[in-house]
Order: sequence, then structure tokens, then C-alpha cells
Amino acid sequence: MGYVDEVIELVVRKNPAEPEFHQAVREVLESLRPVVDANEEVYRREALLERIVEPDRQIKFRVPWVDDSGRVQVNTGYRVQFNNAIGPYKGGLRLHPSVNLGIIKFLGFEQIFKNSLTGLPIGGGKGGSDFDPKGKSDREVLAFCTSFMTELYKYVGADMDVPAGDIGTGAREIGYMFGQFKKIRGTYEGVLTGKGLSYGGSLVRTEATGYGLLYLTEEMLKCNGIDIKGKTIVVSGSGNVAIYAIQKAHQLGATVVTASDSNGWIYDPDGIDVEVLKNIKEVRRARISEYKALRPKAEYHEGRGVWSIKCDIALPCATQNELLLEDARELVANGCKAVAEGANMPTSLDATKYLQENGVLFAPGKAANAGGVATSALEMTQNSERLNWSFEEVDAKLKQIMVNIFHNLDEAAKRYDAAGDYVVGANIAGFEKVANAMLAQGIW
Ligand code: NDP
Repeated sequence: MGYVDEVIELVVRKNPAEPEFHQAVREVLESLRPVVDANEEVYRREALLERIVEPDRQIKFRVPWVDDSGRVQVNTGYRVQFNNAIGPYKGGLRLHPSVNLGIIKFLGFEQIFKNSLTGLPIGGGKGGSDFDPKGKSDREVLAFCTSFMTELYKYVGADMDVPAGDIGTGAREIGYMFGQFKKIRGTYEGVLTGKGLSYGGSLVRTEATGYGLLYLTEEMLKCNGIDIKGKTIVVSGSGNVAIYAIQKAHQLGATVVTASDSNGWIYDPDGIDVEVLKNIKEVRRARISEYKALRPKAEYHEGRGVWSIKCDIALPCATQNELLLEDARELVANGCKAVAEGANMPTSLDATKYLQENGVLFAPGKAANAGGVATSALEMTQNSERLNWSFEEVDAKLKQIMVNIFHNLDEAAKRYDAAGDYVVGANIAGFEKVANAMLAQGIW
């Protein structure tokens, strides 16, 4: 058995019942085979792969809080600090009932390589809780966030670990957590990113992941002789990533015709009206089914189905494993030319393989959605400098970062005889920097 297979087997054996983590490790390690083969002696001696799949530490804690009826509720909090070879741990906090240790580990592992790809000095981590902010009052969300940070503050700090938003954690939650950190620690530091603009937040952070996704997609298409202008795009999700992906796609001259939430999806042949969607999701925190009432030509369907609509480009922006093999088949049959992942691991491994084998350009999430964390790192820089950059300045830096990411992974794929395989390219480009830093820093 080769070194890569040995380590995959080790991960499955040592981390039972964590299928998402196994999936992420398998996807990354399998595509690293050429690099591992070329360096096998050193990597084996240094146990490099065994070390990179084992988090530096994983923290799990009780989060008790009082609901509006006066009852005490108990959730579980997590922070997995995966790897800080190239900078302080950085990665979001996910608040969703599906959260468990395996999901946080898959996200933390992916984050190592994504953060490395940005070219900025940030390590990989992830956290969250099985708390569901949906349907909770502001006071209940405050109670949860306060309790969560009352434990988490021991492990985070501007030079140690800098969490950010993710599913279920937006500006409101980050604000409540920042307030509690400040109160307990007594320091005013950039411990979280995604903060409000009046207290250390960065312009463009809200838009960054969706905008970044489109900047990278545009560059990937351009380098393959395709103009994004005039193309039809299907998007899943209607959260932070999806909304700003749709907005930027329209600015670039494409038309996005779908969006979804966990209940159903909409099809608007004239193009999704972003202001209507924002009002439903960001202001009223309502269901996407309400879109139809405001846009009579649109259709609403229960369940999933955005991948069945004919398109040139598909952008999965909701959650993991939402684009499966049968969806990939449908996209290919309908002439889809490119898929770029706004969400983390939204495409299953067999679906990814099918798309690539059928000539669909495929940009993996760790590259395509890196704009969020890249702008978070720009927020950290502004906090350290005690400066605020303009919207145009941050947006220009974001665009440059996304264009550079695409060229780095394109070049890495070519270097290892895998031209056009952007999954291999992203994993190799992200991995090499972290691996070299780990080897240079001795045994830890
Ligand atoms: P939001 O919470 O803002 O939105 C998530 C969207 O996905 C909502 O429309 C939600 O619907 C839908 N969704 C969530 N879970 C499911 C599910 N199990 N089935 C179907 N639909 C679901 O999250 P974000 O937009 O921030 O994040 C989306 C994805 O992008 C995640 O994978 C996240 O990790 C990734 N990401 C986010 C970044 C960011 O900066 N925000 C950065 C990089 C990656 P509903 O409202 O019904 O729950």
C-alpha cells in the first residue's frame, strides 16, 4: 500500500463516524499523489502526512443559555485548530443543527489549504455549534453567543486564532461575540473578522466570498477562451455567498436564473432580482418561497432542483454534498461548461470526477470561495495598522488575489502533468507552502 493510502486508512480508523472528514482527506491526499511520490522518503521520515491530518488541537465545550421561556438550553461548541504553520489559525464559526466534530474537522482541514492558496499568512481552523439561530429571538441569539464566547475566549486572539462567520454566523452573531470577548479579556483586538464597519470591520467583507467566486470564475473562463458575458448561471443557496455571487454575476453581464434555501428553489427566467432576494433573506430572514409573490414570472418549487435548469455555468453556494452524481449528469446533458464551488465541498467526489471527465471546467471551493477568508485577512491587516481601506481598494486587492489564486493552481496542475485539473492544482499549490513551512519548523 502506498503512503497516501496508508494515511487515508489511518484517518478512517482513528476517526470513526466522521464521513465528511474522511471525504475531505481522501479528496486532498489522493490529488497530492504526484507531490508525495516525489518526496516520499522525506515525508515518511518526518511523518508529514500523519501530522497534517491530525489537528493541532480540538476543543469541545458545553454552551448553556436561557431561552425566552426561562428554560436552560444546552448546545455543544467546537473549535478545531488544525494547523498554524504559516500563520494564526483562521476559519469561520458555523451555527447549524447539523454541526458535529466531523463536519468541523472537514472544514478545518480544507481551510489549511484554502488559506495557504490566498498567499496570505493565515493557518487553518474552524469552529461552531449545533445551535440553530433560525427562529430564535435576538435576545436568545445574544444569550447563546455570550455563553459561547465565555468559553471560546481562552483559545482565541489576534495572533493566535481569529474566527469569522460561516453558515448561521453573520454580522449580528460576530458583534455579540466580539462584545463578550472584549468584556472578558479587556483588550480591543482583531480577534474576529466580519465585524461591523464602526468597530474594525472591513468594507467588502460581506460581499467578498460571492464576488471572489465570480472573479475566479471569470478568470478561469477567460483562460479557456470563454467570455462570462451573456452566460446563463444557476446558483444554489440564498445566503451570504449566493446573494453576492448573483450580484457580481449580473455586474459582469451574466444572468443568474435560480436560487434556493433548505425548503425549496426559485427559477426566474428574467434573472434573479437581488434586491428582492436580499430583502427576503437579509432583512426579513424569511423563506425563499416568498420571492414568487414579488416576481410573478418566477416559479417556486419545493425540495431541490436547481441543477435541472439549462445553464452555461453552475455555482453551488449552499452547503456540502448538494451537487451529486445525478445532478452532474443533468448539468453535462444540458451543456454546462463550468462549475465553481461557492460553498465548501458542495460537489460529491463522484460528481466532481464525472464533470471533469466530461470536459466541464471545475473550480474547487478551496480556491473559488477563498475570497471570504482572503478579505478577512485584509481585515486583520487593517486592524493591526489601525487603518480602514476604501471599498475600491479592498475590492481591487480581492480581485488580484482571486486572479493570482487561479494562476497559481493552473501553474501547479501543469507542473505535475495535470493541466486543466484545478482540483489537483489547488491541492498541490495549497499543500506545498504548508508542507515546506512544517518541515522548516521541526517536529510539532
Ligand atoms: P448562509 O447561512 O448565509 O446561507 C446558507 C444557504 O444555504 C442558505 O440559503 C441555506 O438555506 C442553505 N442551506 C444551508 N444548509 C442547507 C442544507 N442542509 N440543505 C439545503 N440548503 C441549505 O451561509 P453562507 O452563504 O455564508 O455559506 C454557504 C456556504 O459557503 C457554506 O458551505 C460555507 O461554509 C461556505 N463559505 C462561506 C463563506 C462566507 O464568507 N460566508 C466563505 C467560504 C465558504 P436556509 O436559509 O434554509 O438554511
